[in-house]
Amino acid sequence: MITGQTKLLGVIGHPVSHSLSPVMHNAAIAHLDVDFAYLPLPVQPKDLAPAIAGFAAIGLQGFNITIPHKQAIMPFLTEISPVAQAVGAVNTVWRTEQGWSGTNTDVIGFLAPLKQLDQPWTEIDAVILGNGGAARAVVAGCTELGCRSIHVVGRDLAKLAAFHQSWVGSTAASILQIHEWHDLAKLLPTAGLIVNTTPIGMHSHEDQSPVDLSLLKMLQPGAIAYDLIYVPQPTLFLQQAVQRGAIAIHGLEMLVQQGAAALEIWLQQPAPVDVMRRSLQQYLKI
Ligand code: NAP
Repeated sequence: MITGQTKLLGVIGHPVSHSLSPVMHNAAIAHLDVDFAYLPLPVQPKDLAPAIAGFAAIGLQGFNITIPHKQAIMPFLTEISPVAQAVGAVNTVWRTEQGWSGTNTDVIGFLAPLKQLDQPWTEIDAVILGNGGAARAVVAGCTELGCRSIHVVGRDLAKLAAFHQSWVGSTAASILQIHEWHDLAKLLPTAGLIVNTTPIGMHSHEDQSPVDLSLLKMLQPGAIAYDLIYVPQPTLFLQQAVQRGAIAIHGLEMLVQQGAAALEIWLQQPAPVDVMRRSLQQYLKI
């Protein structure tokens, strides 16, 4: 029950109506029986500053950040974690006595299912399809795993070069290479991990895959195919990779685990990961 004592959490974005975070966080809050509520908070880019001031004024405990505010939020924070600085984006904010602190839990979310696998990460070459926001968390995650090399594949040379440049001076820089899509034929036979961070194959385009079947056939059996897309589950990319003998990881787990990591920061207690996962599966009917 929401009472006069209830503490508020939320997610800011524009739009925010598609966000799945209220579903899984309110399921977790109900399960834990804590006096919190998690709200969708639509904030247009021009309103970010007054919105943040308003959140302080009403005593909001913390919030998630989704598109388009993940970078724009950074000047409003008094502290930014090293991982969020490396990724260049913040997705979770909480109150401190000094002001707002921020981090990026997408890296924890991305890594959680991989850490369940027993793999010789230092011998693994990672291939990342796409060079947008999510690819940044994936590069940080693959670096943390200790992958031997990271190959980022994109379609826009200028964006790829800027992506590469943004990692200069970081641990990732020495193992990171950028490629155009036609390089996939060269990269796939030795890839131990291939991650789709493009929207190709998502809901309403289920018949599409970022990798042609003729190319995917080059993937070695036992390689890990990871799709950040969470609907459909599995995507065509994952179905075809499994047929090649790959280990498949779908995006729902990353979504759940980044949410669980955020909730643990706010509540300072373990998150009910199973409850959060189940709430999304029920909501999405997957
Ligand atoms: P983004 O910043 O817009 O990046 C998308 C990337 O995909 C860009 O590099 C873009 O290339 C590329 N791309 C888009 N359409 C393409 C096409 N037809 N052919 C080749 N490349 C294409 O988006 P994002 O925030 O990184 O999100 C990407 C995907 O990850 C979405 O499906 C999102 O739902 C998913 N995601 C999942 C989680 C999770 O928790 N599971 C978390 C974050 C994101 P250009 O830059 O050249 O346009």
